[in-house]
Amino acid sequence: MAECTEKPPPVKLINPFSWITCPSVSLFDPAVNLSYYISAAIWFVNFYGGQFEIMIYRTYGSTGVEVSAVGFGGMRFDEKDLDSCAELVKTAYDAGINYFDTAPGYGESEKIFGAAFKQMKKTRSQKPFYVSTKTLKDSPGEVRKDLEASLKKLNLDYIDFYHFWYVLSLDVYHQRKANGVLKEFEKLRDEGLIKHICVSTHMPGPDIDKMLRDYPFEGILLGYSAMNFAYRQTALETAAKLKLGVVIMNPLGGGIIPQHPEKFAFVKTRPDETVVEGAIRFLLNDSRITIALVGIGHPKHIKEAVAAVDGYKPIPQKTIKKIRAALNESFNELCTVCQYCDDCPQGIDVPKLMDAYNHYVLMGKEADAIFRLEMHWGFKLDDDFLKDCIECGQCEKACTQKLPIRQRLKTLRQMVKKHLASK
Ligand code: SF4
Ligand code: SF4
Repeated sequence: MAECTEKPPPVKLINPFSWITCPSVSLFDPAVNLSYYISAAIWFVNFYGGQFEIMIYRTYGSTGVEVSAVGFGGMRFDEKDLDSCAELVKTAYDAGINYFDTAPGYGESEKIFGAAFKQMKKTRSQKPFYVSTKTLKDSPGEVRKDLEASLKKLNLDYIDFYHFWYVLSLDVYHQRKANGVLKEFEKLRDEGLIKHICVSTHMPGPDIDKMLRDYPFEGILLGYSAMNFAYRQTALETAAKLKLGVVIMNPLGGGIIPQHPEKFAFVKTRPDETVVEGAIRFLLNDSRITIALVGIGHPKHIKEAVAAVDGYKPIPQKTIKKIRAALNESFNELCTVCQYCDDCPQGIDVPKLMDAYNHYVLMGKEADAIFRLEMHWGFKLDDDFLKDCIECGQCEKACTQKLPIRQRLKTLRQMVKKHLASK
């Protein structure tokens, strides 16, 4: 497995005191006008009154676009009150978050963002924001229709980061590409309807590497967290080499990390930080990552995400190494998705299945494992599910965690049977 030897990225802050640290500007320079002194005074009062937090901005790949290091993930809205959800988007914008991620399949998400953007567009020229959405259509005509529908709901004339969505395998990638989907993306970009062509995927690192070398995407959206960082190291290495923007979905393991603070205590590098702050800062510290996308459904999620950025200090490499080592110890009965077992003679994708089983262990509900299998990994759940396992035990011999994989596969098979019977 490739080790990350990258240094923490340089920190760019939006801060009215920036002129103080600029060697060419002195405190008494006439260029520093009265309004600057006033804004600096307000900042000072707020900061020391504990009401102001600092956002870090990073350049998205080679695009030159400056985005906030935490982004707004728009799939956790409580849709009972759409106006309050739109308020949440504006609160995040006011707190310095300027990257907003949605998709046509996230319930009312695009509509909620659209209501907020209608207001936010009034200040967009002074305070920019950037929008990401996606399509999983597989023909040029349908892609165009999907984009038009998104633009309408979002109240926008163009999308900043448009994603070739939900690439589950190289076959899917090649098929959609052969259907002309990426050519259509290029046409849409030429027409100014989208700005940057990006991809969103759940594939393992080596497959992502192949895809990124095949097409010049400008950015990638992928799942990566303190729970599974071994799984996509190759992808991050390639994305960094090719200078792509890298957006991380599920940085909190889909809510599992905050719900199990003791199990994930190994991500904390300081006694004063929460496990959420530790998990976000672990990602902020990686110079290959541009944005950690936090699912926001409540004002407290904004506060937590912004506080994590505000208190961020570069983490030394030796501490990062300790976190990586601690993953194995802390995950006694869990799969670390290291993929050492990924050589099944029957072609069974053991790491993905054991990752789904993790969700069952941590959340305690079969429905969580089923959701992970079906929606995240794209398994076809039918009566034949896992029937090809000949119980040879090869995967268990290779397992770094010494997991009872055969038993777990049987349990998963039972769960799927139960799930199908209940339909
Ligand atoms: S026990 Fe089943 S899953 Fe494991 S290697 Fe053998 S056939 Fe594959
Ligand atoms: S089952 Fe074991 S070997 Fe396979 S990915 Fe998980 S921890 Fe690694």
